[in-house]
Amino acid sequence: MTPMMQQYREIKGRYQDAILFFRLGDFYEMFGSDAEVAARALEIALTARDAGAGSKIPMCGIPFHAAEGYIAKLIDKGFKVAICEQVEDPKLTKGIVRRDVVRVISPGTVMEASMLKEKKNNYLVAVTGGVEGYGLAVVDISTGEFRLTETRGDRAQTKILDEVARLSPAEVLLNAELTQVLSDKLIKTTGCVISYITAKEFNFKHAVSLLSSHFATRNLAGFGCQEMELGLTAAGALLQQLQMQSGGSLAHLNKLTPYVLESFMVMDLATRRNLELTKTLREQDKKGSLLGVLDLTHTAMGARLLKQWVEQPLVDFEAIIKRQNLVEALHQDYLLRADLRDALKEIYDLERLLGRIVFGSANAKDLLALLHSLKYLPKIEQLLNNVNPLSSPNPLTELSQQLDTLTDVAELLERAIAQEAPFTLREGNLIKDGFDQKIDELRYISRHGKDWVAALEAKEREKTGIRSLKVGFNKVFGYYLEVTQANLANVPEEYIRKQTLANAERYITPELKEYESKILGAEEKLVTLEYQMFCSVREQVGNRAHGIQHTATVLAQLDVLSSLAEVAVRNNYVKPKINTGSTIQICEGRHPVVEKVLEEEFFVPNDTELDNSTARLVIITGPNMAGKSTYMRQVALLVLMAQMGSFIPAANAQIGLVDRIFTRVGASDDLSTGQSTFMVEMNEVANILNNATEQSLIILDEIGRGTATYDGLSIAWSVAEYIHNEKRIGAKTLFATHYHELTELGDMLPGVCNFRVAVKEQGENIVFLRKIVEGSADRSYGIQVARLAGLPQEVINRAKVILHSLESQESSGKAKREISTAADFEQLSFALVEDQHDPNEQKVLERLQQIELNQLTPLAALNLLAELKLQLKQV
Ligand code: ATP
Repeated sequence: MTPMMQQYREIKGRYQDAILFFRLGDFYEMFGSDAEVAARALEIALTARDAGAGSKIPMCGIPFHAAEGYIAKLIDKGFKVAICEQVEDPKLTKGIVRRDVVRVISPGTVMEASMLKEKKNNYLVAVTGGVEGYGLAVVDISTGEFRLTETRGDRAQTKILDEVARLSPAEVLLNAELTQVLSDKLIKTTGCVISYITAKEFNFKHAVSLLSSHFATRNLAGFGCQEMELGLTAAGALLQQLQMQSGGSLAHLNKLTPYVLESFMVMDLATRRNLELTKTLREQDKKGSLLGVLDLTHTAMGARLLKQWVEQPLVDFEAIIKRQNLVEALHQDYLLRADLRDALKEIYDLERLLGRIVFGSANAKDLLALLHSLKYLPKIEQLLNNVNPLSSPNPLTELSQQLDTLTDVAELLERAIAQEAPFTLREGNLIKDGFDQKIDELRYISRHGKDWVAALEAKEREKTGIRSLKVGFNKVFGYYLEVTQANLANVPEEYIRKQTLANAERYITPELKEYESKILGAEEKLVTLEYQMFCSVREQVGNRAHGIQHTATVLAQLDVLSSLAEVAVRNNYVKPKINTGSTIQICEGRHPVVEKVLEEEFFVPNDTELDNSTARLVIITGPNMAGKSTYMRQVALLVLMAQMGSFIPAANAQIGLVDRIFTRVGASDDLSTGQSTFMVEMNEVANILNNATEQSLIILDEIGRGTATYDGLSIAWSVAEYIHNEKRIGAKTLFATHYHELTELGDMLPGVCNFRVAVKEQGENIVFLRKIVEGSADRSYGIQVARLAGLPQEVINRAKVILHSLESQESSGKAKREISTAADFEQLSFALVEDQHDPNEQKVLERLQQIELNQLTPLAALNLLAELKLQLKQV
């Protein structure tokens, strides 16, 4: 093997799970299987290279200056890339230049703006744990967010999986034990990249010492998470991985924030998807989602925070009221809101700018963007303090107090960074005149050198009489005098010929060369010095990371709050009254998304009354297309919006806080996880029945449709009973169904009410009124709706015939059943009254006493009767 290949093999051995970019001159080369994989993924040519002893190894390469785009492609496809550079100066080395990996880029450790989505956090998550519970740490190194949580108890695994799904991380770190338990589920639910790290890195003691030394604190008490053994273990593993992978400073990860899963409303992945919180089910697009309506933010920081608020509504009363008051203050003061939003438009992504500044990858444009943003901070501070007498005390004052206006940073940047600075850092023109004396001096020489060259050109033209003579510059010869063929006769003797072109000759003179060395020396020195000075300014700004982060947090909140206020004004939302009771009362509620997309119709508002006693399970029937799903989602969304602190589309509302929202909506195959439609549905139902509490809100849009009618109806029926039962769940529930039999529950169970969506029949047609009214529907008008959808008339006609025949069979069967039920009951009670002392009848009586007759469903009553009849027959 050639020495270089030996070096390659040694390094590659340490980075088995990454594609190794091996720096050779101006290229990054990849070898062996890395080359095969990368050539395919990047669609570049695969060649081969001599590996020594006549053997060949596959190879491909990319120019180093274009690496970012190629890396982005590989990361996007879920690969990791290890960047291996020369780590010593080739000029000072005799043998082979030492090389080493300076950074490993994986989906969760990306810093480059081009590889990040502006309005989405890029999370790297570590999960640890097992029998006693789970710990989770999450970091976004592009913004500096670093948080941890943990959860114990029997539902710990579900909770942690839901949390990972909510975070929707780019990458998750697991140790080997967890890999077996969690990785499949995680890949299936979130599609994220899983990286495996050794169990040794998941060690509590090691984690505490690593974290303390990173934060330069004696212990972690100051962060309020000293006791969180599982969470800290995960945080330690995460930090260690980052330190191993990162090629820059991680100083912007300067605090660790613990959070408690229970302080947020619990929603599983299915619920988040079904409610289309941040993207639509079909197109996976933000447009058409709740976030799409609520997001009028002007900054990327605000957009990311709003997404978090939508995904994590609060459950704490005080915290919700605090947000509401802030939104209200901005809602009622038009001028303040308008001025604030104008100022926010000027703010760049301070979190990510700071990330790059601390990491050492920010360029001058980044610093100018920071400067531009900072200039608006005094204005924002002034706006917040400008108390509107209507809202006293001004709730915004607290935010203004947290705002660091960073005038020192702005002043430094204003003095230091040149307005026209380029993207690159190695070409000079970064530092303003007057900032540094040495730079000014070198700049004078280099600028005046150019003047001198211009003067020389004029002088030589004069001297030789060659009017087309010009002074040029190239990298090989430096400065030269160029004379065209036609004028060669006039070239003076002292000119030294250097190069012959097709129709010109190039010359140098001692005078030209002497000055050239002065100019070029100055330029080279100037570029180096400017670069050093730039790095020093960047470092000074990085030292103010705390202040910048504080300000970024405040700005993000202001952006979200003012966006919510603006949305409320534009869409005519009201402030809901939040309480800790158990009633949800919405007057003239509207679906925030559907009301925006309707073109030909107006949205019809609807009322809602839910409480935990007489109206806890509302069964909604009505034709297809009538608006049942829209209504139920609307209720869930309004509760969710209220609990995130937002105003809501309604005339007025009282919202008793809910702890979780569950939805079971529609049917979809999940073939990727190998589950059939019905299995997915039943999984979702099981999850609800096992996890809902009395304070939850449950939305059931059809149950049991994916199987045979009677199986489906029986399941739907018993699920409804179970949810209604206070000893089991007793949660507030909206249940839409086409099983009209279920409306019988309204007469049987105290907490069940029936509602239907009103329609008007006009001959063959139905008109959708979109109004929810009390009572139950007895038809679904499925065939009419199918006709509207454009099914061939022949199919519609045939369906009508079949329906008719089925309905008459059904009604005769039902009648028979009813007769026999009534007759049996009569006979039974008669027999019981006649002689209560018969030993067998005594048994029957006991059996009857065990059962609350009014709780019986028709199916259960039939079963019971069969059982009783059997016993009576034995008499
Ligand atoms: P299915 O039983 O077939 O699932 P559905 O009763 O659940 O039907 P939805 O999907 O809720 O019906 O509503 C159908 C369409 O009716 C919606 O896409 C929307 O365009 C319109 N719609 C629903 N509610 C309203 C409303 N309150 N005002 C105006 N239009 C509405």
